Amino acid sequence: MSEPTTTDRLALRARELDAGDELTRLRERFVLDGPDDLDGRDDLDGVDGVGGTVYLDGNSLGALPVTVADRVDDVVRRQWGRLRIRSWEESGWWTAPERIGDRIARLVGAAAGQIVVGDSTSVNIFKALVAAVRMARGADGDARDEIVVDATTFPTDGYIAESAARMTGCSLRPVEPGEVPGALGARTAAVLLNHVDYRSGRLHDLPGLTAAVHAAGAVVVWDLCHSAGALPVGLDAHGVDLAVGCTYKYLNGGPGSPAYLYVRRDLQDRFDSPLPGWNSHVEPFGMRSAYEAAPGAVRGRVGTPDILSMLALDAALDVWDGVGIDAVRAKSLALTDFFLQCVEAYADPGRVTCVTPRRPEERGSQIALRCPDAGDVMKHLIGRGVVGDFRHPDVLRFGFTPLYTGFTDAWRAARVLGEVLDEVAGQSRGEARA
Ligand SMILES: *Cc1c(COP(=O)(O)O)cnc(C)c1O
Repeated sequence: MSEPTTTDRLALRARELDAGDELTRLRERFVLDGPDDLDGRDDLDGVDGVGGTVYLDGNSLGALPVTVADRVDDVVRRQWGRLRIRSWEESGWWTAPERIGDRIARLVGAAAGQIVVGDSTSVNIFKALVAAVRMARGADGDARDEIVVDATTFPTDGYIAESAARMTGCSLRPVEPGEVPGALGARTAAVLLNHVDYRSGRLHDLPGLTAAVHAAGAVVVWDLCHSAGALPVGLDAHGVDLAVGCTYKYLNGGPGSPAYLYVRRDLQDRFDSPLPGWNSHVEPFGMRSAYEAAPGAVRGRVGTPDILSMLALDAALDVWDGVGIDAVRAKSLALTDFFLQCVEAYADPGRVTCVTPRRPEERGSQIALRCPDAGDVMKHLIGRGVVGDFRHPDVLRFGFTPLYTGFTDAWRAARVLGEVLDEVAGQSRGEARA
């Protein structure tokens, strides 16, 4: 008998890992390419075209859970179409932001009553950051006049922080995440940090940084866009003050589904929203001219909730029934480890550099690889049915959603990547000669 090749060995290993994976059954809860397409997976001649797409972009737009379409149909046809205005009460529309917030709470380690769903992440960052500055000043006067922000942040967070700083008379201090503790002091009012870096996939030390911000007497706002639904967050356990996150990435809520805002219970009375819309009023239907904030998470609301996408999100959250976030984390780490092992086996050494930390305690649920022609490489990869994404200027991102991504997917993605890297390099050598 001949020695198995590397390809055979890793393909077999992928099958073993899939067979031992208790979350494999959850794949059925999503609309993905069918099992017919799965059969041909080992046959790389058959992977051209669209069949059997490996979807590794759930960190940008999560796949569609199967229950969503029927639920949306019911919300539109029956709740809106027949019940019309009665649905605000009878279909629970009015209280949906808090009710769905409580469903997300379990996934980010928060007790009920602290999360409200609505608006975009960008808008919630604004609410949280301005409220954080107001809270920090409430404690010891006006001395605090600095907002510290992660310099490598997703652009919207930085833009909003700049405006929030200008509005509150603060200066904005962008610092590398590793240097945040050294930047904190008596002037720090608020700190806006990302739990997982959207580009590199680096997981930051939420407990340690939260403690450091508190030691400086400041208020911390965590952006959970790339961690919620992929790993345990432990908001309550780590004493986080405020947090925001989106629901269309690892929570699979659908394109533009509403974001959420967490305000720790003992801070809710001091949450002074810069957008105090009528939905956050203690008596919204009293139609009073004077504003008086409602108690609790409701205080984070602004205007009328976007019911259609909010209830699509509600249905999407059903996929989490009976699923523990610790099991999801364990699989996420195993998947990203295995993918890297396969990339090392199939990509020419030095052709790509991994920018995601190898250490599990520093890794989110994506792998980011750097190569100079990343834009071209991703176009070819998508053409071959491996969907990740490209982030300017030179990063290939592969997101791993443990609920529906398997080890064979990871294997195939790496195998096709190895081939595409050769092809694209060959083409540019050809062009250089021409
Ligand atoms: C995805 C993401 C956002 C998205 O903001 P929207 O307002 O939903 O467009 C913001 N911040 C971070 C860190 C993200 O990853």
